[in-house]
Amino acid sequence: MAVRIRTASPQERKLSWWDKLYFPAILSGLAYTFGRLFKKPVTVQYPEEPIELGPEFRGRPVLVVENGKERCVACGLCARVCPPFAIHMQAAETDDPKERYPAIFEINMLRCIYCGLCEEVCPEEAIVMSPEYDFVFRSREEAIYTKDRLLVDKKDLEARLGWLRQMRNPQIGKRFRFRISNNIHSVKARHLVAEGEEIAG
Ligand code: SF4
Ligand code: SF4
Repeated sequence: MAVRIRTASPQERKLSWWDKLYFPAILSGLAYTFGRLFKKPVTVQYPEEPIELGPEFRGRPVLVVENGKERCVACGLCARVCPPFAIHMQAAETDDPKERYPAIFEINMLRCIYCGLCEEVCPEEAIVMSPEYDFVFRSREEAIYTKDRLLVDKKDLEARLGWLRQMRNPQIGKRFRFRISNNIHSVKARHLVAEGEEIAG
């Protein structure tokens, strides 16, 4: 028995007498096309011309370096949340106040889908989506980005970090104040200190 599938409501198929003329629609399309002929082209001659991207663009994820050290405290949240299991890391202890750092941190760029979830969950703003989008690898081994290729100085990521700060839900840290005293090393806490908040020790 044939199954009839309705793809559009009958009303959608009804054309007015003006629609049925077609010429006005054709002429307006042609007018738009000719109008574009005399305007500056929007096409970018990539790769000869670089593409300017805003801070909202999600390029390859990188680790933020601040004062010569990675911000990462090796909590493992990013590895746990990463949908395609692209992150592999191993924590080690350090004498720094942050107590832990990632001895090994790798991202498999063949798996990464640039979703930005690692950046979203990171309590330290230690992993962020950089503006870098044009990179190549010629083997599977080359696609595994180790720490030496992941570490990027904070000053080169200011646009993204600033954008994240602006987009952050302003309620976070205010409604859940208990988290402030539980996480005194976090970047979030440092921002709150800068804004004059008292952080319990
Ligand atoms: S951007 Fe998404 S897929 Fe890529 S490493 Fe981060 S969480 Fe994983
Ligand atoms: S979530 Fe942030 S602090 Fe935690 S391991 Fe990942 S990069 Fe490091």
